[in-house]
Amino acid sequence: MLRPELGDPELAGLSDKARSGLEYARLMAEAARGRRLSALAGSASWPLTIEELAQQKDRPLIQIRSEINQARVELFGANLSDSAIDYRLRKAGERGLRTCADPNCRRSISALANGRRRFCDFHGSPAARVRRHRLARAAAANSSRGETA
Ligand SMILES: [Zn+2]
Repeated sequence: MLRPELGDPELAGLSDKARSGLEYARLMAEAARGRRLSALAGSASWPLTIEELAQQKDRPLIQIRSEINQARVELFGANLSDSAIDYRLRKAGERGLRTCADPNCRRSISALANGRRRFCDFHGSPAARVRRHRLARAAAANSSRGETA
């Protein structure tokens, strides 16, 4: 299940379908939160099921399902399990906003990206990695030449 606390950089690139799927996921997450609160207050309420949501929105169940799934795929990729998504979201909340490790770059790293990710999409590309590696080698060669001179 998707959580509602995602920031702008992740959401900017979503398709319309994924956007509406995210909205459905949001509604269900809010209902789940409401249910916990009412349980604390001693009154019972049922979670919002995807079937009820489809009824409320007057949409076919399969459309709701497929839009939620689309949001999930666009935000996390197709092969991430529920528990992996949950873990990533929890870690994202703990980490807060991260920025690219390139000293001249101010782009932020998606809160949903892997925790070891240090560079933005641009500086994290294979070409950029090779460039960094060559620069570092050239700098090391220069400094050792400096020491012997
Ligand atoms: Zn960068």
